[in-house]
Amino acid sequence: MELTGKRAVVTGSNSGIGLGVAESLAAAGAEVVLNSFTDRTEDHDLAATLAARHRVKVSYIAADMSKGADCRALIEKSGGCDILVNNAGIQFVSPIETFPVEKWDQILAINLTSAFHTTAAALPGMRAKGWGRVVNIASAHGLTASPFKSAYIASKHGLVGLSKTVALETAGQGITCNAICPGYVLTPLVEAQIPDQMKAHNMDRETVIREVMLDRQPSRHFATVEQIGGTTVYLCSPAADQVTGTTISVDGGWTAL
Ligand code: NAD
Repeated sequence: MELTGKRAVVTGSNSGIGLGVAESLAAAGAEVVLNSFTDRTEDHDLAATLAARHRVKVSYIAADMSKGADCRALIEKSGGCDILVNNAGIQFVSPIETFPVEKWDQILAINLTSAFHTTAAALPGMRAKGWGRVVNIASAHGLTASPFKSAYIASKHGLVGLSKTVALETAGQGITCNAICPGYVLTPLVEAQIPDQMKAHNMDRETVIREVMLDRQPSRHFATVEQIGGTTVYLCSPAADQVTGTTISVDGGWTAL
């Protein structure tokens, strides 16, 4: 398979988009390292399930992406990586005047600074091999803004800027760095919000999805974790050898508005 012999580290990958990306990379033949900050039996079971399903090596390494030393240790404990997917991310919504300082710091640390640490730790190995892929999961909010999400939007715009800088520092060395910018993606977290939104707006499932949740997404369809995974696999393919320092929107037209 096309990614056989490559090791991928995906941060924040015990659920949602990270898990979907990990699954797509495993299906393409890559060895995968799953990560989150927890160290539960089910996290390690998830790795075993993916390994059995795709007949590739999959491990789980607990590391807290809000801590720089943990970020660097994740890469070291993985034995380095050929593909680095910086996906761990959190959100918090509040007007800026009352935005809790600790939430601002935590969001910047997990959504942006972690990618600085993991990339710095992963690049020497990629340079030595003359091949590497850094894929940063940013957001439509890395290119546009919405009120009350100051930390998230600042972190995702920062992640897009970091991607461009890493692309320039690695250009011509067989390494690429890009940001994927998803719109609204149907993850378990989003799925769980649907019943509450249906109640709050007294609408059926389809109407609340179309009129309320996807009002910024012209296609009126969620993106899927499989589509983000497929975009990641494309960025790891030879077709994308010259794709670097850019953003790829998977947002149903959100940023075309
Ligand atoms: P999610 O909550 O399902 O996944 C987040 C992952 O990050 C989880 O695995 C969680 O355990 C992990 N994580 C959180 N804090 C961590 C920490 N301190 N250390 C290590 N891991 C940590 O959410 P998701 O929707 O799958 O989001 C994944 C990424 O995609 C995020 O960066 C998010 O900003 C981005 N994104 C999501 C959407 C969407 O609509 N779901 C849209 C655009 C971008």
